[in-house]
Amino acid sequence: MQKVYLDNAATTAIHPAVIEEMVTVMKDCYGNPSSTHVFGREAKALLELSRKKIAQHLNVTPAEIYFTSCGTESNNTIIRSCVNDLGVTRIITTYLEHKCVMESVNDLESRNKVEVVRLNIAKDGTIDYNQFEELIQDQSKKTLVSLMHANNELGNLLDVKRISALCKENGALFHTDTVQTVGHYPIDCQDLGIDFASCSAHKIHGPKGAGFLYARKSTHIKPLIAGGGQERGLRSGTENIYGIVGLAKALDISLAELDNHKKHIEEIKAYAIEELKENIPGVGFNGLSADFEKSLYTVLSIKLPFNDPLIGFELELSGIAVSQGSACSSGAAKVSKVMETLYTDEEISQMTPLRVSFSYLNTKEDIDALVQTLVKISKKHEVVS
Ligand code: PLP
Repeated sequence: MQKVYLDNAATTAIHPAVIEEMVTVMKDCYGNPSSTHVFGREAKALLELSRKKIAQHLNVTPAEIYFTSCGTESNNTIIRSCVNDLGVTRIITTYLEHKCVMESVNDLESRNKVEVVRLNIAKDGTIDYNQFEELIQDQSKKTLVSLMHANNELGNLLDVKRISALCKENGALFHTDTVQTVGHYPIDCQDLGIDFASCSAHKIHGPKGAGFLYARKSTHIKPLIAGGGQERGLRSGTENIYGIVGLAKALDISLAELDNHKKHIEEIKAYAIEELKENIPGVGFNGLSADFEKSLYTVLSIKLPFNDPLIGFELELSGIAVSQGSACSSGAAKVSKVMETLYTDEEISQMTPLRVSFSYLNTKEDIDALVQTLVKISKKHEVVS
């Protein structure tokens, strides 16, 4: 059976050059970076070289990069420390954030540690910038703004510079979850005016279990995990040296190939939009997903004009892997918080959202396979209705 992978926002295949580099480190560099002997010093040198390379890519200092296990850990560390250690008493965020941000915020709120303001969201998934501008001017509470750079379900991109300028003007800290954008766009943290950002290697053809957080030096966040004091005290635990080397290599490759990959993926996305419109009457796109300027080129959020909670399963029978929100035990998909925020219950009952997400490995044949299967499924719905 064919196997078509269109779920690259969930995770990506590891690049062969990343695997090669990681295997070399696994074989030859097994020292603990905290050991003072030559084995440890070799591992430490690799660790610091990886940090330096990543810092250069983001235009920050190596001391502002902290290795973690994933995007989830990075976001948790930042948000929790801002409230627990830096005196933040108000968070401005949205219901569209990734669960790791949303649940961290919910947890702090439920323990009465912070007041949370969630911005209004327009039908196309855009935040209410005017509301934000008004809210941010209240400087009576120390505020953390946590707004994701790109939404993982819709692909919508945030106007980061607009938000960061307002945060700076009003003395607020600014965290942006960059898990879906690092490696896909040039990210210059100085230029963008970001205080905190996050990255996960497995989203950019690197290994699972490795990520980093960026924290501007002046912020002084504190650790979530205590222990041996690795990562300058911010993240204890023996460093995942293979993962970190793989992460740095994956970022090197992603940025070196960015223009090529972007061009290829944009062609694939444009082809998908065209084929879907031509073959499935009534098809639409969620958020700003079909707008090439305002959304991630790697993500297309399709809105099918019928309700089919089992569609992910049906696509899988044809060997096609896409994402459809979180699965529940029956195999049907639960409606995501993002879709609940954008649509009424009635609208949701008449549609099926489907996220397809691309990488440089996808081809037009992958899109043909997807569209052919969706056509078959939609015909079935025409008969039923
Ligand atoms: N933030 C965003 C926007 C994501 O898309 C994801 C993963 O899907 C995460 C955070 C969590 O990253 P990780 O899987 O590395 O924990």
